[in-house]
Amino acid sequence: MEETHQKVADWLAQSRCTVAFTGAGISTESGIPDFRSPGGIWSQSQPVLYQDFLASAEARHEYWRQKSQSHGDFVAAEPNAGHRILAKWEQQSRLVGVITQNIDGLHQSAGSRNVLQLHGTARQVACLDCDMEAEADPWVKEFIETDRAPSCPECGGLLKHATISFGQSLPPEVLRQASQWAQDCDLLLVMGSSLVVEPAASLPRLARRSGAKLVIVNREPTEQDPLADAVLHAGIGETLAEIDQRIA
Ligand code: NAD
Ligand code: ZN
Repeated sequence: MEETHQKVADWLAQSRCTVAFTGAGISTESGIPDFRSPGGIWSQSQPVLYQDFLASAEARHEYWRQKSQSHGDFVAAEPNAGHRILAKWEQQSRLVGVITQNIDGLHQSAGSRNVLQLHGTARQVACLDCDMEAEADPWVKEFIETDRAPSCPECGGLLKHATISFGQSLPPEVLRQASQWAQDCDLLLVMGSSLVVEPAASLPRLARRSGAKLVIVNREPTEQDPLADAVLHAGIGETLAEIDQRIA
């Protein structure tokens, strides 16, 4: 393990272009559950599919019920050591930026500036019919008070968190930029993702094909471990701290 920490620290010191790619696992140390670990979100309730959200008032109510619950987790959460070290590396120009699947906004809270949010942000809501966007907080409060899924104050359209639901397509410009980063980097640090959901599954492959070194930090094995130049099955906060200490 120590040898691997040192090896990754050396790669980081020598790299011209390092990109981090994060999933729900980087936020569990901030108290936000991931999807697939035991006790994760999926052991409690099934997410509402986008098509169902569009089609049924009942599904919209269930969506807002789930989102109001996770909203409480998100607003109470503080960035942890993992988020902070990535923000520091960006400040030190060791890291170009972070591609994240997370919707919690904790990379930005930690000070990261170049963040590509593949799945949008739960800090905002957006109307599906017009370009109205707003802070999520008051709308979650309204739902809790009225127990009714809110609608857009501008046009009456459906109001939803500014996140990508299952069945909804990813914002093409964000995806294009993430693919570009994966192609251009010479070191991709992947952490806290089970790497089963697209495009998460394909970004590491793309980076690897374009000649980048691939490092995976994840408690459990992932399907892409065999592709990686280094794999660390450990907690993200402690692992990044170990690597950070060893950068020459
Ligand atoms: P996932 O739940 O599929 O996988 C998370 C992985 O992280 C697991 O393999 C787990 O072993 C590992 N892990 C958990 N805590 C860790 C830690 N402290 N150190 C090291 N490894 C740890 O997550 P995913 O691949 O990101 O996909 C889930 C989807 O759910 C994402 O697309 C995301 O949009 C959404 N989601 C987001 C949040 C959030 O914003 N914080 C939380 C839950 C789910
Ligand atoms: Zn509207």
